[in-house]
Amino acid sequence: MNERIYISMGSNQGDSLRLLQEAQQMIALLPETERVDCSSLYLTPPWGNSHQPDFINQVMELKTELAPLKLLAALKDIEIKLGRRRTERWGPRNIDLDILLYGQEVIKERELTIPHPYMKQRLFVLIPLMEIAPDCVFPDGDSIQEVFDRLGPPDGETPFRKLDPDGLLA
Ligand code: AMP
Repeated sequence: MNERIYISMGSNQGDSLRLLQEAQQMIALLPETERVDCSSLYLTPPWGNSHQPDFINQVMELKTELAPLKLLAALKDIEIKLGRRRTERWGPRNIDLDILLYGQEVIKERELTIPHPYMKQRLFVLIPLMEIAPDCVFPDGDSIQEVFDRLGPPDGETPFRKLDPDGLLA
């Protein structure tokens, strides 16, 4: 159980703060799983389709004995228990749970790609991940800092706003 595993959590519908808290608790209660760390909450503009509310995003680190596909199934189950409804690609959702990294594993299965295929293009994933794993190196050898420097705005300023644990602007 030594792999560093990171989950991205996002919500922009319903009581997002409560949904993220419940998702965190449910993940920590999975069998042979423990929570290691969680980033701050970030209020982020929607990606892909801008005609929807801002998201709250967060990244969680955990340890687990669950194999990657078992972990994916458990996360989908949590999404359903939390009432996930979604019709549109990149559209609004009350909860979205993705596996970003599973140690240094590279997985290309029909229903699971790790590292998450879009994570290097999404600041809403990279910024919370960098907060809790500043020394993170991807399986291809890129460090998170290099990826951020390539993607991030030149002045380092992003439209993301950190929230305190009550969901208020920090
Ligand atoms: P999403 O729209 O983010 O919920 O993703 C939908 C589908 O992506 C899921 O049904 C998964 O089977 C698939 N998928 C592929 N790679 C991953 C990953 N690393 N984490 C979560 N879902 C994934």
